[in-house]
Amino acid sequence: MRLRDTAEEQAFRHQLRAWLDETLPTLPPTPPFEDWPAKRAYDTGWQRRLFEAGYAGISWPKEYGGRGATPSEELIFLEETQRAGAPYVGCNFVSTLHAGPTIAAEGTPEQRARYLPPILRGDEVWCQGFSEPEAGSDLASLRTRAVRDGDHYVVTGQKIWTSHAQVADHCELLARTDPDAPKHRGITWMIMPMDSPGIDVRPMRTLTGESEFSEMFLDEVRIPVGNVVGAENDGWRVAMVTFGFERGTAFVSELLGSMRLLTDLVEIARKGPAGAGGTAWDDAGIRRELAVVGAELDAQWALTRRNVSRAARHGNAGVGGSVFKLAYHETRQRLGDVALRVLGRARLALDDPTGLSSRHLDHVHQRLYALSLSIAAGTAQVQRNIVGERLLGLPKER
Ligand SMILES: Cc1cc2nc3c(=O)[nH]c(=O)nc-3n(C[C@H](O)[C@H](O)[C@H](O)COP(=O)(O)OP(=O)(O)OC[C@H]3O[C@@H](n4cnc5c(N)ncnc54)[C@H](O)[C@@H]3O)c2cc1C
Repeated sequence: MRLRDTAEEQAFRHQLRAWLDETLPTLPPTPPFEDWPAKRAYDTGWQRRLFEAGYAGISWPKEYGGRGATPSEELIFLEETQRAGAPYVGCNFVSTLHAGPTIAAEGTPEQRARYLPPILRGDEVWCQGFSEPEAGSDLASLRTRAVRDGDHYVVTGQKIWTSHAQVADHCELLARTDPDAPKHRGITWMIMPMDSPGIDVRPMRTLTGESEFSEMFLDEVRIPVGNVVGAENDGWRVAMVTFGFERGTAFVSELLGSMRLLTDLVEIARKGPAGAGGTAWDDAGIRRELAVVGAELDAQWALTRRNVSRAARHGNAGVGGSVFKLAYHETRQRLGDVALRVLGRARLALDDPTGLSSRHLDHVHQRLYALSLSIAAGTAQVQRNIVGERLLGLPKER
């Protein structure tokens, strides 16, 4: 893969940078902590601006309303938006990064026409109803039942860890349509309108104090048969397509965000804590740790470029997505550990004892948040199994 911009890419970068410089100062203030309707409005408002400027669905095919950008242009887009401090994808994570791409790849022409344009415009938000209390890593054991009744399925069961369920319009749902088939063969991927009667969403509070996820109880929810993506009982294969997108390139903004956190941390270290008398930067051990994290993030950026090129050719990043996710979560947690060393005693407080203001708070918050990265989108152990079996050719887990 080329590592330098071509003339066209340079022009694209400059045009985007100019647009960001002009647009970001006009954004409304960020929403208050835990105000989910305000967060939805903020995130979808940003998506709308991207759409109006021709940057929505950057890598989606043009025929489905995307920009049809090359992999290099997609990375330039992600680099420049992060560099400028543009909003994160937020509530649009599921819709733009995996439900939308799954519908583009597997949906009918009618489904593409119905669901893709509102995603690109920021009109509709999606959530993911895959995990259940007894089916996380072993997702194929899911028990939520969908029973055919004329033109509908009647769905009953319980989902858990459903991010953004409280503000979503649609849910990409996995349900069991054939209880007698082997467990991977009796599952169907379907679109559940979140305003259907029988859905009870109960937010759960996490360690960081946020309630981004919910439990979702489904009691005889009627879903039209036309909402199945792929075929009935073919949902496991469709879910693998979704995971290819979710684990493949959906973490790229995360990686760039970590690079920004590292730069910020170096600045804090040069000026302030850790120990008595000097600054954190005086500690050679801390400097070395910061450099190691920086080198690892750089290596993961190179891996990302490789994965994005592969995705452009094969539709998704394949096992490369698992390799990336595995390496990335470890680095992000190591970054959090060194952040706490840099902050010294200030890390013990969630207020501002040292004049570091919200940046200090952010690093403590980020360390807590980083714990979830070894679980979300498939746990570290499960990614190790995938890499062991599919990449290294080790014997299959029994
Ligand atoms: C931030 C975040 C957001 C999420 N958002 C969503 C969402 O929007 N929608 C959704 O459906 N889900 C979501 N999830 C759920 C996530 O997909 C599950 O938590 C994950 O798949 C693990 O499942 P589990 O929690 O049931 O843990 P379990 O599967 O019960 O795992 C428990 C432990 O056992 C280990 N283990 C399990 N099986 C194996 C094995 N075969 N080999 C070795 N070790 C194993 C695991 O690695 C883990 O350490 C989210 C999770 C997080 C953290």
